[in-house]
Amino acid sequence: MSFNEYKEYIEEGDLVLAWLSRDNFKPIYIGANDNLNTRYGSFPHSLMIGQRYGSQISSKSGKGFVYLLAPTPELWTLSLPHRTQIVYTPDSSYIIQRLNISSNSRIIEAGTGSGSFSHAFARSVVNDERNNGLVFSYEFHQTRYEKARIEFESHKLLNNKIILTHRDVCKNGFQVNNFPENKNINNAINGDRNGNTQMNVTVIFLDLPSPWDAIPHLDKVITQEHEARICCFSPCIEQVERTIRALSSNRWVQIEMVEVQSKSWKSHKMMIKDIDDVVNRLKDIKRRKINGIQELKEKNARRKRNSSDLEELQPNSEEGKEAPKQENKKARGFNPFGRGLRVLEGDENYNWLNITRMEPEIKSHTSYLTFACKVPENKSK
Ligand code: SAM
Repeated sequence: MSFNEYKEYIEEGDLVLAWLSRDNFKPIYIGANDNLNTRYGSFPHSLMIGQRYGSQISSKSGKGFVYLLAPTPELWTLSLPHRTQIVYTPDSSYIIQRLNISSNSRIIEAGTGSGSFSHAFARSVVNDERNNGLVFSYEFHQTRYEKARIEFESHKLLNNKIILTHRDVCKNGFQVNNFPENKNINNAINGDRNGNTQMNVTVIFLDLPSPWDAIPHLDKVITQEHEARICCFSPCIEQVERTIRALSSNRWVQIEMVEVQSKSWKSHKMMIKDIDDVVNRLKDIKRRKINGIQELKEKNARRKRNSSDLEELQPNSEEGKEAPKQENKKARGFNPFGRGLRVLEGDENYNWLNITRMEPEIKSHTSYLTFACKVPENKSK
């Protein structure tokens, strides 16, 4: 399984995203003799081979479990090894729709960083006999470039959907001179192999500290057929101001800055409690309080006796401990609204109200997004 195909059953060599808990995924490459060791137990890969993607498997001890999920750009973003700050799904999904990305888009992404956004871009484009979509990704940091290269290759994206180039785009621009030997890519680049390629870029995404240095180089690579669109991702407003000045002096128009502030909206059922329930709840609180006072008195008495005659008191103290527990147990089963008996949400024996709630905090702001577009001069009249 890679990011490039759909598959139903897990085989050796596949990438699986093991779901350990809500915020904890672990990417694993299946090897027949390997093990996934987690705090929930040990999961031999041999048990995963032949399982359907999405299945749940138990640990060797039978006490823990994980789900075996197929890789998607969204899950990869949550589980990838971080080499840099990354773009998260609330931003990347908005940017992709706002830049009008389609299977035929020819996208520049700089820098590649940890490759989070590269995977989302790569899913959108198609490069075959009918579609000319490609992602041109640039990274100037040697180690990050090499790591991204290995990762894209193992995900079957390199030189297929993504052309990765080791280059400083602010100093040297965006030309790609060494295109890989690949039939579809040859068709897609539409030019000769001596550096005079026509990249015909339609979409640009700049996640760089100084996008204003890269913007003047774009004219050489953007399409002359129709408008090109750009998004610059910058954490500070001062960077946004400088970017806007560079965009405007390079004749980019319709400049607009937005900020994605996503909040999760939760919907669930709330139990409707009637007056009898409330009375029972109050009685339960009272009962627990009395038990607590009783327990405290017994504890103090035990402590006193303990200091005068330790041996004699040992069995009594055990007895003393048991009694309130029994009492508490009874109380626990009594009131479904307090601690104790768990009622499943939606249980037909109770009345429920459908409610929605918004998260109070915004967690997703990472950067400001500056959008603009440019129409070729021959088309603008
Ligand atoms: N968007 C990426 C992701 O989602 O994983 C993260 C990009 S990271 C914040 C910025 C990257 O740009 C860094 O890896 C850095 O090395 C690279 N970079 C910075 N200046 C560059 C330049 N002039 N040319 C190429 N890459 C550059």
